[in-house]
Amino acid sequence: MLPVIALVGRPNVGKSTLFNRLTRSRDALVADQPGLTRDRQYGVGQLGNRPYVVVDTGGISGEREGVEVLMDKQVRLAIEEADHVFYLVDARDGLAGADEQIAAELRKTGKPVTVVANKSESLDRDLATAEFHAMGLGEPVAISAAHGGGVKPLINRVLDTFPPAEESPEEARAGVQIAVVGRPNVGKSTLINRLIGEERLVAFDKPGTTRDSIRVPFEHQGRTYTLIDTAGVRRRARISEAIEKFSIIKTLQTMEAANVVLLVLDAHQGVSEQDATLAGHVVQSGRALVVVINKWDGLQSDERDRVKSELERKLPFLAFAEVMFISALHGTGVGHLMKAVDAAYRASVSDLKTSDLTHILEQAVMEHQPPMARGRRIKLRYAHQGGKNPPIIVIHGNQTDAVPASYQRYLMNRFRKAFKLWGTPVRIEFRTGD
Ligand code: GDP
Ligand code: GDP
Repeated sequence: MLPVIALVGRPNVGKSTLFNRLTRSRDALVADQPGLTRDRQYGVGQLGNRPYVVVDTGGISGEREGVEVLMDKQVRLAIEEADHVFYLVDARDGLAGADEQIAAELRKTGKPVTVVANKSESLDRDLATAEFHAMGLGEPVAISAAHGGGVKPLINRVLDTFPPAEESPEEARAGVQIAVVGRPNVGKSTLINRLIGEERLVAFDKPGTTRDSIRVPFEHQGRTYTLIDTAGVRRRARISEAIEKFSIIKTLQTMEAANVVLLVLDAHQGVSEQDATLAGHVVQSGRALVVVINKWDGLQSDERDRVKSELERKLPFLAFAEVMFISALHGTGVGHLMKAVDAAYRASVSDLKTSDLTHILEQAVMEHQPPMARGRRIKLRYAHQGGKNPPIIVIHGNQTDAVPASYQRYLMNRFRKAFKLWGTPVRIEFRTGD
């Protein structure tokens, strides 16, 4: 499971600046997509090959000051879900009146806390942190969220306190790893039950695994898959059906561990804002995707048309994914769904030859030239594959920093069509110089 870091502090200390810096590596990989919702509260950061979740509580507690910040219910919940808390202070302001009280509150949570002295770029490191020792929360760390100084060592230090992810046993990682995500009540548990069967569920309903994701292998038409789930699977197995608290963090963690994400929407409810936020996270995760419109049963044809057009209008950035219309309750369409899972997975691990990529690039450029930048034509020379799952296409040329988002989308579509890259996000990276 990905470690979770919560950013807490008074307004204006630099929480959202730090959040943006930490999550930028992932953001940068998504070409600007019209309609894509960015969740500025939850994000995934990555240092080397170690991903982690960041929660910015600043987005939640707008105007709060002093201990009020911690009294905010949303902040408390965020701290509860976190593995580590960064308490941000402004190094230039020094200790504020409420900081000691806040420190006492933070100690009560029992969570590991690091005091982060931000805006320290023009300050002597020792001076920047000296006063904050008095908070009694250990050695404060000086950083500059705006300029980046000290940020990597800070994250490194925190990540080093987490044991490396334990490899699950071989048999529990068989086949394509599938995550089922969606807001409450769209039919995730019903779909999961449909896929793996009740008996299986009970067998895997082991106590003491609440914090971890569990992997449940299952077979469909002779093929093995593994379902990754944090909570939904076990819910149905319990006798009392307490409503599971919807957690973006669990969703992010589940997606990270998966090869293919099933994003489930409720045809009866249409596409909500929460669906759009989740969809944005799926795209940013880079995972292969199948969109599942559940509860397709019992709808009139005009209602079905309305759902389809809403999907196109509100989630245009999911156009790369197959959309499957199913009824988890009756089992209709579930067989086709698994075929779409296979196809999306295959596309996400495609091998793309340099010669083919370059050929497609040349054709695309010939038919529609990139624009001028700084009085010169942008030149795109050749392309090679930079990674898989998701496929990364690296394009070499000149002035590539000036390629507009619209032209990036044009290239993306050309590559998708040429290589049949449906069901997987594709990332284009540019390199300048030859
Ligand atoms: P938040 O309310 O805690 O989320 O704070 P913001 O991230 O919105 O930052 C508040 C202000 O501080 C903005 O004007 C930022 O540009 C500025 N800021 C953030 N980090 C730094 C930093 O490292 N150095 C300096 N000098 N300013 C910063
Ligand atoms: P979850 O919260 O996403 O796991 O949703 P559940 O699987 O618990 O389903 C929520 C409700 O929707 C339950 O009452 C299900 O019986 C119902 N439901 C699930 N799938 C379907 C479906 O395909 N058609 C219809 N009509 N109802 C469904």
